[in-house]
Amino acid sequence: MDNIPTHIIQRDPDQKEFLQAVSELLETVQPVLDRNPEYRSQAILERITEPERAITFRVPWMDDQGRVQVNRGFRVEMNSAIGPYKGGLRFHPSVTLSIIKFLAFEQVFKNSLTTLQMGGGKGGADFDPKGRSDTEVMRFCQAFMTELCRHIGPNTDVPAGDIGVGAREIGYLFGMYKKIRNEFTGVITGKGLNWGGSLIRPQATGYGMVYFAAEMLAENSDSLEGKNFLVSGAGNVAQYTTEKVLQLGGRVLTLSDSSGYIYDEEGIDAEKLQHVMQLKNIRRARIREYCEKYPNATYTEVDPELDHNPLWNHTADCAMPCATQNEINGQDAQHLLNNGVGLVCEGANMPCTHEAINIFIQNNILYGPGKAANAGGVAVSGLEMSQNSMRLAWSQDEVDNHLRRIMQSIHTTCLDASHAYGLSKNYLAGANIAGFVKVVNAMIDQGLV
Ligand code: NDP
Repeated sequence: MDNIPTHIIQRDPDQKEFLQAVSELLETVQPVLDRNPEYRSQAILERITEPERAITFRVPWMDDQGRVQVNRGFRVEMNSAIGPYKGGLRFHPSVTLSIIKFLAFEQVFKNSLTTLQMGGGKGGADFDPKGRSDTEVMRFCQAFMTELCRHIGPNTDVPAGDIGVGAREIGYLFGMYKKIRNEFTGVITGKGLNWGGSLIRPQATGYGMVYFAAEMLAENSDSLEGKNFLVSGAGNVAQYTTEKVLQLGGRVLTLSDSSGYIYDEEGIDAEKLQHVMQLKNIRRARIREYCEKYPNATYTEVDPELDHNPLWNHTADCAMPCATQNEINGQDAQHLLNNGVGLVCEGANMPCTHEAINIFIQNNILYGPGKAANAGGVAVSGLEMSQNSMRLAWSQDEVDNHLRRIMQSIHTTCLDASHAYGLSKNYLAGANIAGFVKVVNAMIDQGLV
């Protein structure tokens, strides 16, 4: 955090995730600030770290026992220099303003990298959908949207899903928006296919991340073929990461949830992945149940207080964290290094701590930061917005080809930006610099607003 100006820290000293994201960006954009003195005279750092708008609101709703529950809702509209605010909603008990601000901050630069016209925002609530009935989830979503609908719109702010917000929640949220505003517009992405959703949107983050990893490997005359992967999470991103790794000839050994992880030495093949999708998406069960059907696999409970996660302590070639922030710390990174992992690509947002990232970069592990690597989801959300405004639907191949081209272009953009500043193949610096420069120049063009 030493690189963050004191007055920025003093404004929100307790927002540790947000300050972590700011610090990571500042570490790499220093040469850009030095080369462009007007960025400092225009107080760009002060402006870019302050949300254009941060809304918190009460979400009262009734559970199945007739008890009144109250949650806290958030929407942080971080930056609209290059388009309407765009970014997902997270429903998880750990949600705080700091977490939503870090996600919104990262989203600004990620969206910039996609080349689509999207600003950055993020939202959510400290609501836990786990263990809640469908009707409770519906009532919560309706209560949440009753307030959120005042702040969003297809040309203003377009939310999507994130942790705890999947197809079911998007449906309830969209239904309530439509009812209150009496309009059917592309105000949310990730919609169902028969009511405005885009083909490939559910797959896009995972597929896009694997396309990005494939580009990183190809740059080194290598491929995914025959490689072993450690994947964390068992939700949307982890599932479609696994599917694409399998399609490109790799083998996935692990999946996890917040209770623990499964290790399947024989590999999680397409049939086993279908079973995981059934478990997680339909039955909303725990990943440990995988071993009931596949007893050769092992399940390890993970104590969140442990100073490392044993999932990252297996021999493999590549690691793809797809669960949550700060899930790989310095000790985990050291285990990955010792176990022969040569590529780490982030499906989740900020899954690696600062210490972990430094270990990867210092040891020449190929490191794909989430800002670049997981941008495929929001990119296809951007394509969903385009299809909605044109009132047409592209085919699966069309969207997948767009996605692949966007991921290739982000990969090239990262390399070009890092080379332009004399850094060789530093994807972190490249992603931060390219994303930052585009947004900052747009802010300067638009004056003090
Ligand atoms: P899901 O809710 O579908 O899945 C999240 C998975 O991560 C679940 O297996 C969940 O386990 C696990 N998890 C969540 N919190 C924790 C925790 N504190 N500790 C350990 N495991 C945890 O979410 P997504 O797959 O959509 O999102 C995963 C990550 O990818 C997030 O960081 C998100 O911000 C990022 N991302 C998602 C995009 C998208 O399009 N969905 C786009 C870009 C990034 P459990 O079921 O036990 O909670």
